[in-house]
Amino acid sequence: MGGTFDPIHHGHLVAASEAAHLLDLDEVVFVPTGQPYRKDAAEVSAPEHRYLMTVVATASNPRFTVSRVDVDRPGPTYTRDTLRDLRRLRPDDELFFITGADALGQILSWKGVDELWELAHFVGVTRPGHDLTDSGLPQDKVTLLEVPAMAISSTDCRERTAAGEPVWYLVPDGIVQYIHKYALYQEETP
Ligand code: ATP
Ligand code: MG
Repeated sequence: MGGTFDPIHHGHLVAASEAAHLLDLDEVVFVPTGQPYRKDAAEVSAPEHRYLMTVVATASNPRFTVSRVDVDRPGPTYTRDTLRDLRRLRPDDELFFITGADALGQILSWKGVDELWELAHFVGVTRPGHDLTDSGLPQDKVTLLEVPAMAISSTDCRERTAAGEPVWYLVPDGIVQYIHKYALYQEETP
């Protein structure tokens, strides 16, 4: 499951857990992006913070792991490179790429889209506020799953923190503490 994870929240964790359960996956590898090419680099927290938050949030689940392939690769992150690297590191594994309805709708515009279908099977999960449809995507390469609706986004968590509003229970407790410890998402002083 790729993502910016800025910060990781319970929407990500429930989606991953449910996909693993429904598809009987052995492991969910969370892959925090390096530099997300669609997002303004200055607006995104340092990769190391996002990587560490992902480790903190997933540490207690024996089936959850975190990969550094994207944070360690220089330049913008493309899912094609993520999947190529994971393939190389795990040549015997069958790969599934878990993505929310919003991201699934954009896949056709991703770099190297034709190769993506060869690298992994795609799993689209429901996300409140977004229609889950695989129209235009190769039907045998995509599975759509309904997962418990968590109306949570990282953007909302950042905005709440900047406004002094709580993010308790939207993110794991350790992430509330991590955000506080490193004073992430504070409003910029004018
Ligand atoms: P941002 O608001 O910064 O874009 P986000 O909440 O969308 O953050 P991302 O890191 O962009 O989180 O998302 C990573 C992946 O998790 C994407 O595939 C996204 O669709 C999926 N996802 C994020 N939040 C949810 C949610 N609440 N329910 C289901 N899927 C989600
Ligand atoms: Mg997003």
